[in-house]
Amino acid sequence: MKKIALIGSTGSVGRQVLEVIRGNAEFEIETLTCHTNTALLEQQIKEFRPRAVCVTGSGFSSVMGEKVFTGKNALVEAVTDETDLVFVAVTGFAGLKIVLRAIETGKNVALANKEALVCGGELVTKLAAEKGVEIIPVDSEHSALWQALNFKKTGYKKLILTASGGPFRTANLREMRHFTAADALRHPNWKMGKKITVDCATMLNKGFEVIEAHHLFGAPADKIEVIVHPQSIIHSMVEFDDNSVIAELSYPDMSQPIQLALTYPEKLPSPLPSLDFAKIGKLEFFPLDREKFPCFGIALNSLEAGDNYPCAMNAASEVAVNAFLCGKIPFTSIAEVIGRVTERAERLPLSVENLEVTDALARKAAEEEIKKHFI
Ligand code: NDP
Ligand code: MG
Repeated sequence: MKKIALIGSTGSVGRQVLEVIRGNAEFEIETLTCHTNTALLEQQIKEFRPRAVCVTGSGFSSVMGEKVFTGKNALVEAVTDETDLVFVAVTGFAGLKIVLRAIETGKNVALANKEALVCGGELVTKLAAEKGVEIIPVDSEHSALWQALNFKKTGYKKLILTASGGPFRTANLREMRHFTAADALRHPNWKMGKKITVDCATMLNKGFEVIEAHHLFGAPADKIEVIVHPQSIIHSMVEFDDNSVIAELSYPDMSQPIQLALTYPEKLPSPLPSLDFAKIGKLEFFPLDREKFPCFGIALNSLEAGDNYPCAMNAASEVAVNAFLCGKIPFTSIAEVIGRVTERAERLPLSVENLEVTDALARKAAEEEIKKHFI
């Protein structure tokens, strides 16, 4: 029986993890956590009977559970000694500390939270190597690369990440200025949490994923290529020295990489249907339009700048996307805010403390930027 600490159980990925685990006697839930959605957490507690429960947000009133942790370090404390796998499905910078803590205690990590790698990738991979801990990719592109590499993270000539192109793939720049939150949240192929869905519309998500691939597979940026593939059937591809390419294909449904992260190294039967190639008909590929989607380049520049720059870029994105979702800034200004804040960030050497400082400063700078230009 594998004991799972599920961090962020009330989110889009968290709920899908529970869907895979539901009725499967091979898994037991040790920990469930939410930020503010205690109503859903209560239901999950009743069904999965975790040993520990954690609420990180301020809305905490009372939740049932054997051990309830709240407050600043709650996520870290909620991982019990008995846990075999920490599934990190929280969104944002909050994921970094829990990932580091899980690795420190020698637990394998199933990683959906890409921000941990975007912000502190070098810290995470270094500690994982020291502790002999496995980071299992959950993001569909990285799971695909890992599968194409036969569960290894080496042996490629080039990594090719696919991108659906999001809801504005065929829109022009003038139209993009007027897109609302409702438009941006209408992703053509995937149903996800709000932050990542908006990041798909700006293509910032693909920039995040290049950084994620860089850290997970030790690949320099020039060995990672991005190609737009609107059908989202190929989840990513690996090119080898002889120029042959191995791709991983399945319907766009997170239950596939989630199930694999739980059952690895085994691939077990899935409720997803077999691919119907005749019905799919065609698989298309287009270059990514970097002019139309400047967030992609901003993310890549932050990777090149190194140290705490990707962390500043991520913090600015969390504030800018939230402001866009609240109707405070237009869609095209998300990139302006992230770009300005990242450019002006002060360089600090990589450490958890410096990343916390960077995160706080960049959030403040992004809020000021929004106040100055839009309110
Ligand atoms: P959601 O917004 O749907 O869920 C986020 C989860 O994290 C919720 O449980 C939420 O609690 C909790 N949470 C939010 N803020 C905090 C915080 N500050 N501290 C602790 N917990 C917090 O996100 P997704 O499930 O879509 O995404 C989760 C992660 O997985 C992201 O990093 C995303 O980029 C990545 N990912 C997601 C995919 C998807 O299909 N959704 C695909 C690939 C990667 P509450 O519900 O109480 O607010
Ligand atoms: Mg992805």
